[in-house]
Amino acid sequence: MTNIIQSPPGYEGPGFFATSASKVVGMARANSLWPLPFATSCCGIEFMATMASDYDLSRFGMERLSFSPRQADLLMVMGTIAKKMGPVLKQVYEQMAEPRWVIAVGACASSGGIFDTYSVLQGIDKIIPVDVYVPGCPPRPEQILDGIMQIQDLARNEDLRRRNQPEYQALMESYDIK
Ligand code: SF4
Repeated sequence: MTNIIQSPPGYEGPGFFATSASKVVGMARANSLWPLPFATSCCGIEFMATMASDYDLSRFGMERLSFSPRQADLLMVMGTIAKKMGPVLKQVYEQMAEPRWVIAVGACASSGGIFDTYSVLQGIDKIIPVDVYVPGCPPRPEQILDGIMQIQDLARNEDLRRRNQPEYQALMESYDIK
């Protein structure tokens, strides 16, 4: 089945269609996300189910997984993140080019989950900014798909200048990210 992407909102008439560059770029970004799966435990297994035939993430037509941060723009963190793993996760995030988005999949990535212990990071937003949180322990594949669709909405509607604005710079500085 061929999926035809809807054109962005704009003005059309006989022989013309006009819209803004921001909306065209947003449409392209939203439909060409390349996820980097950073999976450390059980939520990663749920992601495998999301990729497999029943749920078939490929239906989006844009889900080419990347295990190189330089070729990915959607970081999906799935599983328990030990504090020792924190600097590695942050380095992966820093190696991704802008624009980049982050999903915290499941309770562990979002808040440490049931592991309220000295060794577990109590949420990845302690070290990197998160765009979408997917609740659950584990979340079902439908929830992971919903999280990706929410990222698509963010990418589609993001202003082209957002990443250069002082608010975004301040957010990065608050995480000590250059
Ligand atoms: S949220 Fe639950 S299922 Fe996911 S990694 Fe943590 S313990 Fe495992």
